[in-house]
Amino acid sequence: MTQRERVQTRFRAEFGDEPACIVRAPGRVNLIGEHTDYNDGFVFPMAIDRATYIALRPRADNKVLAISLDMDDRREFALDALPSPTETKWIDYLVGVAWSLQERGYDLRGWEGVVGGDVPIGSGLSSSAALELTTARAFYEVSAFEWDARSMALACQAAENAWLGVQCGIMDQMISAAGLRDRALLIDCRSLETASAPLPPDTVMVILDTNTRRGLVDSAYNERRAQCEAAARHFGVKALRDVDGDLFARRKQELAPVMRARARHVITENERTLRARAAMLAGDAATLGQLMIASHISLRDDFEVSSPALDAIVACANADAACYGARMTGAGFGGCAVALAGADGVESFLARVGACYRDATGNEPILTVTGASRGAEKIYP
Ligand code: ADP
Ligand code: MG
Repeated sequence: MTQRERVQTRFRAEFGDEPACIVRAPGRVNLIGEHTDYNDGFVFPMAIDRATYIALRPRADNKVLAISLDMDDRREFALDALPSPTETKWIDYLVGVAWSLQERGYDLRGWEGVVGGDVPIGSGLSSSAALELTTARAFYEVSAFEWDARSMALACQAAENAWLGVQCGIMDQMISAAGLRDRALLIDCRSLETASAPLPPDTVMVILDTNTRRGLVDSAYNERRAQCEAAARHFGVKALRDVDGDLFARRKQELAPVMRARARHVITENERTLRARAAMLAGDAATLGQLMIASHISLRDDFEVSSPALDAIVACANADAACYGARMTGAGFGGCAVALAGADGVESFLARVGACYRDATGNEPILTVTGASRGAEKIYP
């Protein structure tokens, strides 16, 4: 059963009728541009073909009644008396989006429906942004406001920051709102301007989940962020985005070795990310793959956010003739890597990478081929 059928079937059983509509919003994987977002830099994600869906119909009152298939739960709240964040986190994403949209002056109507999807939760593919954007889309379908992908992304990011207390950047919401079929989206995290490029012909992206998580992420993230801010202050600029390769080459000796390495990652990663789009526009899988390999080395050696499991799975992929290049993706210390591979024979590539990684680590990986999908949208009727 597809995810769409899953929410539709439950909707019929629950409400005795067809839903008025079904909406979806995707998870994402970042192809290149890691730890650049909070430096006002560039990221280059694509929306994956796993998504969160809501089958719904409008309500005459101002209440939202949501049934979660994945959490096996059912919750109701009123739009003019939003409940404070609870222990039941999943509903807080819906309440948070309602709060954020209303804060921004959107006039919301109530709805009732069924929520479910197949973005793995907590794997770094941003099931949270998918849930937020599909919620925003649900409100859009029953209310009477204009849909603007950037405004919706900002509203959902504010919900996650202020309502859920998670200090994420804008990437996840922006790509879940504005993703394009078969294309990746370069996002300028300062201006929020976007530019797309197609995946190279005859290639696919493969998500290599190491099936490892480490608790280090939050503290290391905050430390890296502070180091980047200190380096920017040293150069007298707002963010490391404003330091180009020439300036860095001239003045890098002024920085202590660790800070120099952190800054070098961000500065070179921004360059690689811009070059990655040029490579994609040229249909040049080989160059794109090399940029991904260089990105991993920079994250491992200069930014020091990789892990033995990530290094192992990336090495397994890069050693394979079917792979153009692989790198860790996301904040690091575990989670997923992403590989650009030839579309032909990708199943045997997965089998070889899986065996190699199992041999090296004893862990069981989760390997998924994914296409690039559209951002938040109505898929029915
Ligand atoms: P991720 O890396 O997947 O974004 P987060 O911790 O940021 O991980 O968000 C995961 C949380 O989002 C879950 O704990 C849950 O509260 C909520 N969530 C995500 N997807 C769903 C879903 N399909 N149904 C219900 N809640 C979901
Ligand atoms: Mg998240």
